Amino acid sequence: MTDSTDSPSSLPGHIAQLPVIGEAAQQSYPTATLYIVATPIGNVTDITLRALHLLAIADVVACEDTRKTGALLGRFGLSKPMLAAHQHNEREVAEKLISRLLAGERVALVSDAGTPGVSDPGARIVDAVRAAGLRVLPLPGPSAAVTALSASGLVNDQFYFVGFLPAKAKQRESALAALANVPATLVFYEAPHRILESVEALALAFAPSRQIVFARELTKLFEEIHRCTLAEAVAWVKADANRERGEFVVLVEGASVATDAADVEAERILQILLKECSVKQAANLAAQITGRKKNALYDRALEIKGE
Ligand code: SAM
Repeated sequence: MTDSTDSPSSLPGHIAQLPVIGEAAQQSYPTATLYIVATPIGNVTDITLRALHLLAIADVVACEDTRKTGALLGRFGLSKPMLAAHQHNEREVAEKLISRLLAGERVALVSDAGTPGVSDPGARIVDAVRAAGLRVLPLPGPSAAVTALSASGLVNDQFYFVGFLPAKAKQRESALAALANVPATLVFYEAPHRILESVEALALAFAPSRQIVFARELTKLFEEIHRCTLAEAVAWVKADANRERGEFVVLVEGASVATDAADVEAERILQILLKECSVKQAANLAAQITGRKKNALYDRALEIKGE
């Protein structure tokens, strides 16, 4: 086991000499090929050896933002011709890239961070290049969704990648209603200015007993991975202003269909009763209506009231 205070100087010095390090250079990188290159989601050293080598020999790098990719290439001592490929010009760029590929070039496609095509531009370019009968090679690497899943501890073989929820409340509600009974772990991406309202919406849409995992600033200095129930989630976000900053993946435990519908119904009844009655009365009545345990409903009623 390594100590968290290990510094690079304590790494075995022979690593740089390992044959496997040089292997990336020995491999075949066919010309006339579009390479889909995953890049780090925060920690620049998460670049793969193969990605680094391909970027070094690519004829052109298609990227979302030439400034960001220029800076990333700079970290590796590279400078390359770049072509901006964002969600508004993917089709036109695809035509340009196809011409370059037909001329025998190696074209790298990257996004600002992570894996292109995953909540990022790229899919239309890949589609056009494949339709033109040209070769597409993926170079796997970081993606925030899989990184978050790997550290979540949520035990489920299935996951359902949702990505960003709609920004408008009504559309978000409908999207969540459609997901309420999905048994797979749900994977959301969210922007910091919307994290609170999204978590509020999740807490209303799904059973309060379901687990939620916040994976914030993955691989960065202030990385934080927190797991709690949906009933506790809004209070957790509000407890510290920093929890509305940075980049987030939010995971929600999959529905267990039998208990979930009943949980959501009990929550709905409790919320209605709390508008008219005291915590004690609401818990009593909700227990009679739903047949659920009075104590659990009482505790939940206190949470809803913020007491
Ligand atoms: N293509 C990227 C990937 O493979 O993960 C995702 C791009 S998407 C435009 C950006 C979103 O990914 C962010 O809003 C956030 O939800 C998530 N994300 C990216 N980097 C992250 C990080 N370091 N920590 C947590 N979430 C991150």
